[in-house]
Amino acid sequence: MSDLKQRICIIGGGPAGLSAAMYLEKKGYEDYVIYEKLNKVGGKCWSPKLKVKHNGKEEELSFETGAIMGAITYHAVSEMEEFGGYYHKGPDFKPGEPNMRREFRKTTGEIDHPFEPKVNFSFKKLSGLLKLKKQMKKLNKLMQTKYVGYDCYGHLGVAKGEYYGISKGVDGYCGATKENSFPNYIKGTNPNLKDLALPFAEFCKINGVEEVQRIWIAPFTSFGYGFFDEIPAALVMKYLDVTTALEFVNMKLWTWQDGTQQIYEHVNKKLKHPAVLETEVVKVERPDGKVKVTIKGKDGKTKVETFDKLIVTTPLDYFINYADATKEEKELFSKIIHERYIDYIATFDEGKSPVISGYLVENMVPEKLGHAMVYYNRWQHLENNCPVTVYALANHTGSKDVTYDFAQKTMDEDMKKVGFPIKEKHFAQEVYYCPHVSAKDYADGWYDKLEALQGTKNTFYAGEIISFGDMEDTCAASKDIVGRFF
Ligand SMILES: Cc1cc2nc3c(=O)[nH]c(=O)nc-3n(C[C@H](O)[C@H](O)[C@H](O)COP(=O)(O)OP(=O)(O)OC[C@H]3O[C@@H](n4cnc5c(N)ncnc54)[C@H](O)[C@@H]3O)c2cc1C
Repeated sequence: MSDLKQRICIIGGGPAGLSAAMYLEKKGYEDYVIYEKLNKVGGKCWSPKLKVKHNGKEEELSFETGAIMGAITYHAVSEMEEFGGYYHKGPDFKPGEPNMRREFRKTTGEIDHPFEPKVNFSFKKLSGLLKLKKQMKKLNKLMQTKYVGYDCYGHLGVAKGEYYGISKGVDGYCGATKENSFPNYIKGTNPNLKDLALPFAEFCKINGVEEVQRIWIAPFTSFGYGFFDEIPAALVMKYLDVTTALEFVNMKLWTWQDGTQQIYEHVNKKLKHPAVLETEVVKVERPDGKVKVTIKGKDGKTKVETFDKLIVTTPLDYFINYADATKEEKELFSKIIHERYIDYIATFDEGKSPVISGYLVENMVPEKLGHAMVYYNRWQHLENNCPVTVYALANHTGSKDVTYDFAQKTMDEDMKKVGFPIKEKHFAQEVYYCPHVSAKDYADGWYDKLEALQGTKNTFYAGEIISFGDMEDTCAASKDIVGRFF
């Protein structure tokens, strides 16, 4: 029987930290504290409001600097919605809701139709699309047969050809059944899963489905998750499992009227112990079965608090800098790589804003680091007066990083070339994004080594690294950690 009276510290008030608290409460734990260094919860789900003018009227609307969308496979996020009483819109949108629409554009501004055979028809285009369709079908089948077990959250056992975790599938999709779908654990052996350690480009090659990268690249690379020659296939396929990928293709996605941040603000309000804001954890010491946490408040003063257990939802490669990290923690966590994702919300010269979101596929290559890859138009009714978020990646394994300033300038130039001259920028940022390990470290069983450390020194690791850097995977990872260890 768990000791429900234990005092538990959670570092970080993002989706992972708040969901950990929610699941602890659901299990009957009463004594937990969430420390959040910023003056708001939600972490990278940050949805600031802007006053916008259109047709002579001014209104205040939410915009997204971070997470935007979800899908039918967002089971843990649904539990957060239920807990907080704040729900998504879509996939069928009503007027006035932040819907999902997009087009493809060349970097010269010309509208592109890569997936419509009748537009700019040629036999080459048609045969390319037929090949793509065939390979999509083939991959779908392979994932449900050769790679059965790929679609659970997290990476436990994958490097050894095993799977263990909460099934991500929805009944009827992804090979999941009523018995094994969320929240049940599935477990099994499948040596083919070892292929998932390969970079996604190589994984596609050995399976004869190279063309599918054309579909996966837009929702993956342009959303900051890295390039297919470097990112292990496991990350791609666990995020964009076949169901989720098809929801993307068919634009059957979810959004939130006041932004994704509100999911977490609502949960925070319902928690017995809302996050302690503007309080940074600056030191962690774990002597004699206790966890001593030094916090720094808004006034700059430090204080030490003692806990029985610690859940770290913040970057583990930073944790080793302020914790009494063991040799194993240092060795493992120093191998974590993260993406440098840069974005800003911009307003444009009057009447010159995009009226729909756009992918600039030509810029989704490592040679174009710092270039705008995608822009997000949230409010259809604002027509060509809508502020838009623009995104770029600043790093790639084997290439020289670009600076933040270079990316900002390059993104502005790109938008101007496409036909959208930027007037003013708001909320520009660079974020620590999509922590992961290299294909080699993945194959060497990095995730199983992490699992072996869970609970050592009363410390549990959650957050983006456990499964993937999106809202669903981080919340589901908290469910898994709380479910198995508390
Ligand atoms: C531009 C962008 C677009 C995205 N789009 C999507 C999307 O469409 N759909 C989707 O599902 N996901 C999306 N994501 C990803 C999603 O936002 C993240 O995966 C998710 O927020 C991760 O949650 P987390 O709690 O693990 O980490 P974070 O959100 O990073 O939260 C960590 C929190 O810990 C706090 N913290 C850090 N160090 C300390 C410390 N020492 N002491 C106290 N507090 C600390 C931070 O301030 C932060 O609030 C997007 C992210 C970005 C940036």
